[in-house]
Amino acid sequence: MTHTRTAIVVGGGIAGPVAALALRRAGIEATVHEAYTTTADGVGGALGIAPNGRAALGLVGLDRIGTPMNAIVLQNHKGRTITEIRQPAQFSWRADLYRRLYDLALQQGVEVHHGHELVDVRESGSGIRAVFADGSTSEEADVLIGADGLRSTVRRLIDPQAPEPRYSGLLGFGARVEGAGLPPTGDRMYMAFGRRAFFGYQTFEDGSGVWFANLPYAYRTWQQARQTSNEQWLHRLAEAFAEDTLPALDLLRLTPPEDLITTGPMEDLPHVPHWHRGRMVLVGDSAHATSPSSGQGASLAAESAVELARALRDLPHPQAFAAYEHARRARVERVIAQGARTNSGKAAGPVGRVVRDALLPLFARLATPEKMAWQYDHRISWDAPVAA
Ligand SMILES: Cc1cc2nc3c(=O)[nH]c(=O)nc-3n(C[C@H](O)[C@H](O)[C@H](O)COP(=O)(O)OP(=O)(O)OC[C@H]3O[C@@H](n4cnc5c(N)ncnc54)[C@H](O)[C@@H]3O)c2cc1C
Repeated sequence: MTHTRTAIVVGGGIAGPVAALALRRAGIEATVHEAYTTTADGVGGALGIAPNGRAALGLVGLDRIGTPMNAIVLQNHKGRTITEIRQPAQFSWRADLYRRLYDLALQQGVEVHHGHELVDVRESGSGIRAVFADGSTSEEADVLIGADGLRSTVRRLIDPQAPEPRYSGLLGFGARVEGAGLPPTGDRMYMAFGRRAFFGYQTFEDGSGVWFANLPYAYRTWQQARQTSNEQWLHRLAEAFAEDTLPALDLLRLTPPEDLITTGPMEDLPHVPHWHRGRMVLVGDSAHATSPSSGQGASLAAESAVELARALRDLPHPQAFAAYEHARRARVERVIAQGARTNSGKAAGPVGRVVRDALLPLFARLATPEKMAWQYDHRISWDAPVAA
């Protein structure tokens, strides 16, 4: 069995470009195929980049991304501070992270094809091809990497019984505002368990600010829920925070409806039984989507992309896929489980809220930098050989 020379990367979001860059660093030629006909500039809200994610991005040449968020000040619905958790991280607009990665990939000679929605594959003894919705196919390559996100097609091609995303019961919203009229929070993000919804915000020296909210919400189909206008969502959010002593209402009032970003249902994938089959393998959200509450989605995607490239550098693909999964599965599933626990606190009912608020100081004590080191201090040794 020979080593991998070429790869098809399906998905040009975050994991896809990182995988392509890391593969190039590993001496493997990678081509990215993205379903959208255009780039994703200006699309999406904010996401966290934890120190472990920043380190993984650094390995493919991306540094200095995002706005520092070196502490989380956790408050209750009365705005009383329960604890301050120091953890050096960044937050970035998804569009900014995406654009930086996209530019880097192009600079390094990665081909990115838009309008290539993968619907099937053709696998032979010598290689694999992607089949796109318009009937065209890609060049043959040694492996195909599914970096196609939460609703991955590659996941279903690997395993038709693969699980679907699980809804946490929360919807995500956010916006940036000008003239927030609040004192700057510096490098601190304030987060609060309101009585009926979760709120976070950070304000800056220039008077601008960012906020996000997680609203418990039951719906039949997301298609149907999407009919709700931004004005209506802002109104619902204002109702949810009406009884809290938080700056939520001020920041909502400063948000023009057209600037509201609805990031949609907060979903995860706690356990995907099969990450690879034959010449196909998953990376990023397609394999291990974690709810945004963990702040680790993009970071884990970057880590996995780099680990997969290392494994393919050193081993023929069947062993490389197994070594990659072995290196990643326990870690990512632990983060996903932690994100899900945070979500259940955010979506708690009246009784759950009382228990949660009573236990918050305890949880806060557990979230010390030492206790979180397994998550944030993880570093990938690029040069270390990968054993089968
Ligand atoms: C448009 C968009 C906006 C987002 N906004 C936020 C946000 O505000 N906050 C947050 O925390 N997370 C957001 N996410 C999710 C976040 O980017 C991921 O959780 C994380 O960064 C992992 O990235 P990923 O590359 O694995 O998945 P994604 O970022 O979801 O990228 C997957 C890519 O694959 C493409 N794709 C899907 N199916 C196919 C197919 N069949 N053929 C070819 N290409 C395909 C998608 O169009 C997408 O570009 C967003 C994702 C998308 C796609």
